[in-house]
Amino acid sequence: MKTFCIDLNVCTGCHGCQLGCKDEHCGNCWLPYAAEQPDTGQFWMNVRQFERGKRPHVKVTYIPTPCQRCEDAPCMKAAKDGAMYRRDDGMPIIDPEKSKGQRQIVDACPYGAIFWNEELEIPQKCTGCAHLLDGADPMISVPRCFDNCPTGAIQWGEEDELDLEGAELLHPEYGTKSHVWYKGLPKKFVAGIVYDPVEKEIVEGAKCTLVGPSGSFTAMTDDMGDFWLRDLPEDDWTLTIEGLGRTKVIEVSTKTEDVGLGDIALD
Ligand code: SF4
Ligand code: SF4
Ligand code: SF4
Repeated sequence: MKTFCIDLNVCTGCHGCQLGCKDEHCGNCWLPYAAEQPDTGQFWMNVRQFERGKRPHVKVTYIPTPCQRCEDAPCMKAAKDGAMYRRDDGMPIIDPEKSKGQRQIVDACPYGAIFWNEELEIPQKCTGCAHLLDGADPMISVPRCFDNCPTGAIQWGEEDELDLEGAELLHPEYGTKSHVWYKGLPKKFVAGIVYDPVEKEIVEGAKCTLVGPSGSFTAMTDDMGDFWLRDLPEDDWTLTIEGLGRTKVIEVSTKTEDVGLGDIALD
């Protein structure tokens, strides 16, 4: 199976992959794999932006999201009359002619990777640039999004030949057995700035320890009084801050969101 592995630690959110996909498919009809992609409203490679935490502790992660090449694909189950099939390289393809009127295919994808073309009345999505793989352009025989990435964040190739160390799937809980891999998927964090309310100064070198059912994590405040405890499991925690001979204890939870505690008085 051919697929992608996208390293979010390297992705700058430049949208080059998204623009490359638009350039390849808008105004170009690549039958039998795809009709023209409309200029607006569709992003077969969708660079999604996630902002987490609260000021001043905010993290932004970009997650380029194409079709996830699901093995147990709900879109294929929803398609009728042969409107979808799977290529030998593993890519599910929507037939642009047989799928006319089959809006239920759009609704079946839990990743939001399929779009409805109002004018043509067909569902459309990433084709894996099947036309390029099959030789439509002598200059390029790989997916345009991969070719257009300036940072090398996207790997593409046979799944068992990709470097998948530390890679994870996006939303495995959907149960679709997807095959697009990601490195650096955002995990929860707890952060804050520790200050001395007596001297009205930040506290450098305070020990911040998070203890919960999933384990314990420690960080020291830097010369700005700032600490970050990153890559945390979703859990309830006791945060203990020690410095200046004082101790402060705060209960926090990363079960639903990241925790930016702002200024913390070490009193
Ligand atoms: S990501 Fe969506 S469109 Fe792609 S195979 Fe999975 S269900 Fe189908
Ligand atoms: S593989 Fe091709 S169709 Fe799919 S997202 Fe990349 S550029 Fe677009
Ligand atoms: S082109 Fe590369 S660096 Fe830019 S958004 Fe896409 S994956 Fe990220």
